[in-house]
Amino acid sequence: MINASLKELSAALTGGQLSSVELTRLFLERIGKLNPALNAFITVDAEQSLAMARVADARIAKGEGGPLTGIPVAHKDIFCTEGWLTTCGSKMLSNFVSPYDATVIEHFKTAGAVTLGKTNMDEFAMGSSNETSFYGPVKNPWHPAAVPGGSSGGSAAAVAARLAPAATGTDTGGSIRQPAALCGLTGLKPTYGLVSRYGMIAFASSLDQAGPMAKSAEDCALLLNVMAGFDARDSTSLARPAEDYARDLAQPLAGLRIGLPKEFFAEGLSSDVARAVDAAIAEYRKLGAVTVDVSLPNMRLAVPAYYVIAPAEASSNLSRFDGARYGWRAPQYGDLADMYCQSRAQGFGAEVKRRILIGTYVLSHGYYDAYYLQAQRIRRLIAQDFVAAFRECDLIMGPTTPTVAFDLGDKAGDPVQMYLSDIYTIAVNLAGLPGLSLPCGAGAKGLPVGLQIIGNYFSEARMLNAAHRYQQTTDWHRRSPTL
Ligand code: GLN
Repeated sequence: MINASLKELSAALTGGQLSSVELTRLFLERIGKLNPALNAFITVDAEQSLAMARVADARIAKGEGGPLTGIPVAHKDIFCTEGWLTTCGSKMLSNFVSPYDATVIEHFKTAGAVTLGKTNMDEFAMGSSNETSFYGPVKNPWHPAAVPGGSSGGSAAAVAARLAPAATGTDTGGSIRQPAALCGLTGLKPTYGLVSRYGMIAFASSLDQAGPMAKSAEDCALLLNVMAGFDARDSTSLARPAEDYARDLAQPLAGLRIGLPKEFFAEGLSSDVARAVDAAIAEYRKLGAVTVDVSLPNMRLAVPAYYVIAPAEASSNLSRFDGARYGWRAPQYGDLADMYCQSRAQGFGAEVKRRILIGTYVLSHGYYDAYYLQAQRIRRLIAQDFVAAFRECDLIMGPTTPTVAFDLGDKAGDPVQMYLSDIYTIAVNLAGLPGLSLPCGAGAKGLPVGLQIIGNYFSEARMLNAAHRYQQTTDWHRRSPTL
């Protein structure tokens, strides 16, 4: 059961082979056994989870279940979850029990999914290794010395170690795709605006987007079906007709044009990752795709531009508590705002403080034009690079990360090295495009390698289709770590 797909789990639940309570217990027991070593969860609340499972079982018995009814899902601790501790990996929120649900959480509840727990993450989603969490680092289930990636490292470790069938994450500069790559999962960062950010604690509002992390593209499609949708409470949410992301998964790939940006295969890419990505692209050719060379000339400026824009937006959120659109400032949550402001001075960890400093600096008088406006200009150029590239191809492919999972402590003291681990993911956020990572091989120490697929705006269905077809002829996504 722990390796079953969401479809198989749903069939077992509706077929009466097992109940949601049994399934939830199974995962709670694994969490009890394995989480002390992995530290993937910040909060587990068996009572609340089992109560939800009982409700799901009743719904299934009445024949009123949907594809996710009764299935336990772990949520990144960035999503406000009513009645659950919601910390965002920070000491600041270490006693914040959310009085309301994020829209994403609400959608999962409506679908009848069971909240399995809240997963560990870098503080306020700032990090690439999960080492900035106030609750301690997460271990990569594939190798105890390695990081799981970040900031959604807890979600990635939880699914990779089979402590949860699926999980949610958020991605501001790579935080779904990078941990998915380092832990051997499939993870999707949707087009900006496709999934509501209401109740999702802000890092950088113009970049943040929530998405699924799971064992396969098919599972991600089923999760995205529940997560996506217009929300009037998020002013950047887009009103579009609903799509069934699972519908076209099996479409053949004949004639698909895959763009290979030369900047993705240049200096800095480790040979083991390059080898696995090349092999994956060869597999796509076998599936009928054709490859074309494309270029993203401004991509080398993505990391510097991001590390101006993201801290600028974050410092606005954090120092002025400008979180109105997430519901934080709504009058009924005034005490959260008070608590947050009072504990601010001593509450943030070193990385968050660094970001606030950078952000305040680049927004200050005299530096605003030189840094912030310049970064915004670069952002536009990067978006234009993608527009040009998508004239030549349907999807872009390349590595998700320059190396496989690095060791705990390796980059923690060197912010620039840490920031560079997002070199292939960040441009996608700056452009607002969708990006997906799927496992495509094993590199050094047998650690997973991620293939990144970048699509044009709202091409999630096509990206998931491409990932799914690959997963039908390969088995990288079926491998799991021995614990
Ligand atoms: N690693 C990047 C950062 O630290 C991206 C994080 C994210 O996507 N939330 O900002």
